[in-house]
Amino acid sequence: MADLSGKKAFVTGGARGIGAAIVRRLARDGAELAFTYVGSRDTAEALAAEIVSNGGKAQAIQADSADAAALSGAIAKAADRMGGLDILVANAGVFTPGTIDEFKLDDFDRTLAVNVRGVFVAAQEAARHLGSGGRIITIGSTNAGRAPFPGMAPYAMSKAAVAGLVRGLARDLGPRGITVNNVQPGPVDTDMNPDSGDFAAMVRASTALNRYADVSEIAAFVAWLSSAEASYLTGASLTIDGGFQA
Ligand code: NDP
Repeated sequence: MADLSGKKAFVTGGARGIGAAIVRRLARDGAELAFTYVGSRDTAEALAAEIVSNGGKAQAIQADSADAAALSGAIAKAADRMGGLDILVANAGVFTPGTIDEFKLDDFDRTLAVNVRGVFVAAQEAARHLGSGGRIITIGSTNAGRAPFPGMAPYAMSKAAVAGLVRGLARDLGPRGITVNNVQPGPVDTDMNPDSGDFAAMVRASTALNRYADVSEIAAFVAWLSSAEASYLTGASLTIDGGFQA
Protein backbone atom coordinates (compact mmCIF):
# COMPACT_ATOMS: atom_id res chain seq x y z
CA MET A 1 0.00 0.00 0.00
CA ALA A 2 1.26 3.50 -0.87
CA ASP A 3 0.73 6.29 1.66
CA LEU A 4 -1.22 8.96 -0.21
CA SER A 5 -2.96 10.47 2.81
CA GLY A 6 -3.85 14.09 2.23
CA LYS A 7 -2.96 13.96 -1.49
CA LYS A 8 -5.34 15.37 -4.09
CA ALA A 9 -5.53 13.42 -7.33
CA PHE A 10 -7.20 13.96 -10.70
CA VAL A 11 -7.75 10.99 -13.05
CA THR A 12 -9.06 11.29 -16.61
CA GLY A 13 -11.37 8.50 -17.82
CA GLY A 14 -11.97 7.15 -14.32
CA ALA A 15 -15.39 5.54 -14.68
CA ARG A 16 -14.40 2.20 -16.21
CA GLY A 17 -11.46 -0.14 -16.80
CA ILE A 18 -7.94 0.83 -15.78
CA GLY A 19 -9.00 4.36 -14.80
CA ALA A 20 -11.65 3.10 -12.36
CA ALA A 21 -9.11 0.75 -10.77
CA ILE A 22 -6.70 3.67 -10.37
CA VAL A 23 -9.43 5.81 -8.78
CA ARG A 24 -10.30 3.00 -6.33
CA ARG A 25 -6.68 2.29 -5.47
CA LEU A 26 -5.62 5.92 -4.93
CA ALA A 27 -8.71 6.44 -2.76
CA ARG A 28 -7.91 3.31 -0.75
CA ASP A 29 -4.38 4.65 -0.22
CA GLY A 30 -5.77 7.88 1.24
CA ALA A 31 -6.02 10.34 -1.67
CA GLU A 32 -8.96 12.62 -2.40
CA LEU A 33 -10.14 12.06 -5.98
CA ALA A 34 -11.68 13.92 -8.85
CA PHE A 35 -12.13 11.99 -12.09
CA THR A 36 -13.66 12.47 -15.51
CA TYR A 37 -15.96 10.41 -17.68
CA VAL A 38 -17.42 11.13 -21.08
CA GLY A 39 -20.47 8.87 -21.50
CA SER A 40 -20.65 6.65 -18.38
CA ARG A 41 -22.47 9.02 -16.04
CA ASP A 42 -24.22 6.36 -13.92
CA THR A 43 -21.09 4.23 -13.54
CA ALA A 44 -19.02 7.30 -12.65
CA GLU A 45 -21.53 8.56 -10.07
CA ALA A 46 -21.78 5.06 -8.56
CA LEU A 47 -17.98 4.86 -8.22
CA ALA A 48 -17.79 8.26 -6.53
CA ALA A 49 -20.61 7.22 -4.16
CA GLU A 50 -18.83 3.93 -3.39
CA ILE A 51 -15.67 5.81 -2.38
CA VAL A 52 -17.62 8.27 -0.24
CA SER A 53 -19.50 5.41 1.46
CA ASN A 54 -16.11 3.86 2.31
CA GLY A 55 -15.09 7.09 4.05
CA GLY A 56 -13.15 8.62 1.13
CA LYS A 57 -13.65 11.72 -0.98
CA ALA A 58 -14.39 11.57 -4.71
CA GLN A 59 -16.16 13.57 -7.37
CA ALA A 60 -17.06 12.50 -10.93
CA ILE A 61 -17.00 15.22 -13.59
CA GLN A 62 -18.13 15.00 -17.20
CA ALA A 63 -15.35 16.27 -19.48
CA ASP A 64 -14.39 15.00 -22.92
CA SER A 65 -10.59 14.88 -23.15
CA ALA A 66 -10.90 16.05 -26.77
CA ASP A 67 -12.49 19.30 -25.54
CA ALA A 68 -9.57 21.34 -24.22
CA ALA A 69 -11.72 23.98 -22.50
CA ALA A 70 -13.88 21.37 -20.75
CA LEU A 71 -10.87 19.33 -19.62
CA SER A 72 -8.73 22.19 -18.35
CA GLY A 73 -11.81 23.78 -16.74
CA ALA A 74 -12.57 20.51 -14.92
CA ILE A 75 -9.00 20.25 -13.59
CA ALA A 76 -8.92 23.90 -12.49
CA LYS A 77 -12.29 23.61 -10.72
CA ALA A 78 -11.34 20.34 -9.03
CA ALA A 79 -8.02 21.77 -7.81
CA ASP A 80 -9.88 24.76 -6.45
CA ARG A 81 -12.51 22.63 -4.72
CA MET A 82 -9.99 20.14 -3.27
CA GLY A 83 -7.63 22.92 -2.18
CA GLY A 84 -4.78 21.96 -4.51
CA LEU A 85 -3.50 19.17 -6.71
CA ASP A 86 -0.70 16.64 -6.14
CA ILE A 87 -1.26 13.92 -8.73
CA LEU A 88 -2.55 13.86 -12.31
CA VAL A 89 -3.19 10.51 -13.99
CA ALA A 90 -3.90 11.04 -17.70
CA ASN A 91 -5.57 7.71 -18.41
CA ALA A 92 -8.44 8.43 -20.84
CA GLY A 93 -7.80 6.83 -24.19
CA VAL A 94 -9.50 5.40 -27.26
CA PHE A 95 -8.60 2.57 -29.60
CA THR A 96 -10.24 2.35 -33.01
CA PRO A 97 -9.00 -0.68 -34.95
CA GLY A 98 -8.49 -0.54 -38.70
CA THR A 99 -5.79 -1.05 -41.32
CA ILE A 100 -4.48 1.78 -43.49
CA ASP A 101 -6.70 0.89 -46.46
CA GLU A 102 -9.87 1.52 -44.43
CA PHE A 103 -8.96 3.82 -41.51
CA LYS A 104 -11.08 7.00 -41.49
CA LEU A 105 -9.38 10.37 -41.00
CA ASP A 106 -12.05 11.32 -38.46
CA ASP A 107 -10.97 8.35 -36.35
CA PHE A 108 -7.33 9.31 -36.82
CA ASP A 109 -8.09 12.84 -35.59
CA ARG A 110 -10.14 11.56 -32.62
CA THR A 111 -7.30 9.19 -31.62
CA LEU A 112 -4.83 12.07 -31.55
CA ALA A 113 -7.29 14.46 -29.87
CA VAL A 114 -7.95 12.12 -26.93
CA ASN A 115 -4.72 10.09 -26.64
CA VAL A 116 -2.19 12.88 -27.28
CA ARG A 117 -3.70 16.39 -27.28
CA GLY A 118 -5.88 15.53 -24.27
CA VAL A 119 -2.83 14.31 -22.35
CA PHE A 120 -0.96 17.52 -23.17
CA VAL A 121 -3.91 19.72 -22.17
CA ALA A 122 -4.35 17.84 -18.88
CA ALA A 123 -0.63 18.10 -18.09
CA GLN A 124 -0.56 21.79 -18.98
CA GLU A 125 -3.47 22.62 -16.68
CA ALA A 126 -2.25 20.32 -13.90
CA ALA A 127 1.18 21.98 -14.03
CA ARG A 128 -0.49 25.26 -13.03
CA HIS A 129 -1.59 23.68 -9.75
CA LEU A 130 1.12 21.13 -8.87
CA GLY A 131 3.88 21.99 -6.43
CA SER A 132 7.19 20.36 -5.57
CA GLY A 133 6.65 16.60 -5.15
CA GLY A 134 3.83 16.71 -7.72
CA ARG A 135 3.24 13.75 -10.02
CA ILE A 136 2.08 13.51 -13.62
CA ILE A 137 1.48 9.93 -14.75
CA THR A 138 0.28 9.09 -18.23
CA ILE A 139 -1.16 5.75 -19.33
CA GLY A 140 0.57 4.92 -22.60
CA SER A 141 0.79 1.40 -24.00
CA THR A 142 3.27 -1.35 -24.71
CA ASN A 143 2.06 -0.85 -28.31
CA ALA A 144 4.35 2.21 -28.42
CA GLY A 145 7.16 -0.34 -28.66
CA ARG A 146 5.47 -3.27 -30.37
CA ALA A 147 2.44 -3.37 -32.64
CA PRO A 148 1.94 -7.11 -33.07
CA PHE A 149 -1.09 -7.14 -35.40
CA PRO A 150 -2.30 -5.17 -38.41
CA GLY A 151 -4.91 -2.50 -37.66
CA MET A 152 -3.33 -0.50 -34.86
CA ALA A 153 -1.05 2.04 -36.55
CA PRO A 154 -2.73 5.28 -35.37
CA TYR A 155 -3.14 3.91 -31.83
CA ALA A 156 0.51 2.77 -31.65
CA MET A 157 1.59 6.15 -33.02
CA SER A 158 -0.45 7.99 -30.39
CA LYS A 159 1.11 5.99 -27.56
CA ALA A 160 4.63 6.50 -28.96
CA ALA A 161 3.86 10.23 -29.01
CA VAL A 162 2.96 10.09 -25.32
CA ALA A 163 6.35 8.51 -24.53
CA GLY A 164 8.08 11.43 -26.27
CA LEU A 165 5.82 13.98 -24.61
CA VAL A 166 6.69 12.62 -21.18
CA ARG A 167 10.42 12.93 -21.79
CA GLY A 168 9.98 16.59 -22.71
CA LEU A 169 7.57 17.35 -19.86
CA ALA A 170 10.00 15.81 -17.37
CA ARG A 171 12.56 18.38 -18.51
CA ASP A 172 10.07 21.25 -18.33
CA LEU A 173 8.83 20.36 -14.85
CA GLY A 174 11.91 18.80 -13.23
CA PRO A 175 13.23 22.17 -12.03
CA ARG A 176 9.97 22.55 -10.06
CA GLY A 177 10.35 19.14 -8.39
CA ILE A 178 7.50 17.60 -10.38
CA THR A 179 8.02 14.12 -11.86
CA VAL A 180 6.43 12.95 -15.11
CA ASN A 181 6.25 9.26 -16.05
CA ASN A 182 4.46 7.09 -18.59
CA VAL A 183 3.04 3.69 -17.61
CA GLN A 184 2.84 1.34 -20.61
CA PRO A 185 0.48 -1.57 -19.90
CA GLY A 186 0.29 -4.72 -21.96
CA PRO A 187 -3.05 -6.52 -22.40
CA VAL A 188 -5.39 -5.61 -19.55
CA ASP A 189 -8.85 -7.15 -19.30
CA THR A 190 -11.24 -4.19 -19.89
CA ASP A 191 -14.02 -3.23 -22.28
CA MET A 192 -11.31 -1.94 -24.66
CA ASN A 193 -9.46 -5.28 -24.69
CA PRO A 194 -11.60 -8.05 -23.20
CA ASP A 195 -9.97 -11.31 -22.17
CA SER A 196 -12.69 -13.10 -24.12
CA GLY A 197 -12.60 -11.57 -27.59
CA ASP A 198 -11.64 -13.27 -30.87
CA PHE A 199 -7.98 -12.37 -30.45
CA ALA A 200 -7.72 -13.04 -26.70
CA ALA A 201 -5.98 -16.43 -26.98
CA MET A 202 -3.38 -15.01 -29.39
CA VAL A 203 -2.83 -11.95 -27.19
CA ARG A 204 -2.44 -14.10 -24.08
CA ALA A 205 0.07 -16.34 -25.84
CA SER A 206 2.19 -13.35 -26.84
CA THR A 207 2.91 -12.49 -23.19
CA ALA A 208 5.56 -14.35 -21.19
CA LEU A 209 3.04 -14.90 -18.38
CA ASN A 210 0.40 -16.24 -20.79
CA ARG A 211 -2.35 -14.07 -19.36
CA TYR A 212 -3.97 -10.65 -19.37
CA ALA A 213 -3.36 -8.26 -16.49
CA ASP A 214 -6.06 -7.49 -14.00
CA VAL A 215 -6.75 -3.73 -13.77
CA SER A 216 -5.63 -3.79 -10.12
CA GLU A 217 -2.08 -4.73 -11.19
CA ILE A 218 -1.75 -1.53 -13.23
CA ALA A 219 -3.37 0.54 -10.47
CA ALA A 220 -0.88 -0.78 -7.89
CA PHE A 221 2.01 0.43 -10.05
CA VAL A 222 0.39 3.86 -10.50
CA ALA A 223 -0.12 4.12 -6.73
CA TRP A 224 3.57 3.44 -6.11
CA LEU A 225 4.60 5.97 -8.76
CA SER A 226 2.31 8.51 -7.06
CA SER A 227 4.00 7.97 -3.71
CA ALA A 228 6.99 9.72 -2.16
CA GLU A 229 9.06 6.54 -2.72
CA ALA A 230 9.17 7.22 -6.48
CA SER A 231 10.82 10.63 -5.97
CA TYR A 232 13.86 10.11 -8.25
CA LEU A 233 11.99 8.55 -11.17
CA THR A 234 11.09 10.89 -14.01
CA GLY A 235 10.92 11.06 -17.80
CA ALA A 236 10.55 7.28 -17.99
CA SER A 237 8.25 5.02 -19.96
CA LEU A 238 7.70 2.02 -17.72
CA THR A 239 6.39 -1.09 -19.39
CA ILE A 240 4.15 -3.39 -17.33
CA ASP A 241 3.09 -5.97 -19.88
CA GLY A 242 3.60 -9.50 -18.58
CA GLY A 243 6.57 -9.88 -20.91
CA PHE A 244 4.73 -8.92 -24.11
CA GLN A 245 7.84 -7.11 -25.39
CA ALA A 246 10.31 -9.67 -23.99
P1 NDP B 1 -11.84 1.35 -21.55
O1 NDP B 1 -12.33 1.56 -22.92
O2 NDP B 1 -12.22 0.13 -20.81
O3 NDP B 1 -12.17 2.65 -20.66
C1 NDP B 1 -11.80 3.89 -21.17
C2 NDP B 1 -12.10 4.97 -20.15
O4 NDP B 1 -11.66 6.20 -20.72
C3 NDP B 1 -13.57 5.09 -19.87
O5 NDP B 1 -13.75 5.41 -18.52
C4 NDP B 1 -14.00 6.23 -20.79
O6 NDP B 1 -15.05 7.04 -20.30
C5 NDP B 1 -12.76 7.08 -20.79
N1 NDP B 1 -12.70 7.89 -21.99
C6 NDP B 1 -12.64 7.47 -23.28
N2 NDP B 1 -12.62 8.53 -24.10
C7 NDP B 1 -12.69 9.61 -23.31
C8 NDP B 1 -12.71 11.00 -23.57
N3 NDP B 1 -12.71 11.48 -24.81
N4 NDP B 1 -12.76 11.85 -22.52
C9 NDP B 1 -12.79 11.38 -21.25
N5 NDP B 1 -12.79 10.08 -20.94
C10 NDP B 1 -12.74 9.21 -21.96
O7 NDP B 1 -10.25 1.43 -21.67
P2 NDP B 1 -9.08 0.87 -20.73
O8 NDP B 1 -9.43 1.03 -19.31
O9 NDP B 1 -8.67 -0.43 -21.25
O10 NDP B 1 -7.93 1.92 -21.14
C11 NDP B 1 -7.51 2.99 -20.31
C12 NDP B 1 -6.19 3.50 -20.85
O11 NDP B 1 -5.24 2.43 -20.85
C13 NDP B 1 -6.26 4.01 -22.28
O12 NDP B 1 -5.41 5.12 -22.43
C14 NDP B 1 -5.74 2.84 -23.09
O13 NDP B 1 -5.21 3.24 -24.33
C15 NDP B 1 -4.68 2.30 -22.16
N6 NDP B 1 -4.29 0.91 -22.37
C16 NDP B 1 -5.20 -0.12 -22.28
C17 NDP B 1 -4.77 -1.41 -22.48
C18 NDP B 1 -5.69 -2.59 -22.39
O14 NDP B 1 -5.28 -3.69 -22.77
N7 NDP B 1 -6.91 -2.44 -21.88
C19 NDP B 1 -3.37 -1.73 -22.78
C20 NDP B 1 -2.51 -0.58 -22.82
C21 NDP B 1 -2.97 0.68 -22.62
P3 NDP B 1 -16.60 6.56 -20.40
O15 NDP B 1 -16.70 5.37 -19.50
O16 NDP B 1 -17.37 7.73 -19.90
O17 NDP B 1 -16.84 6.20 -21.82
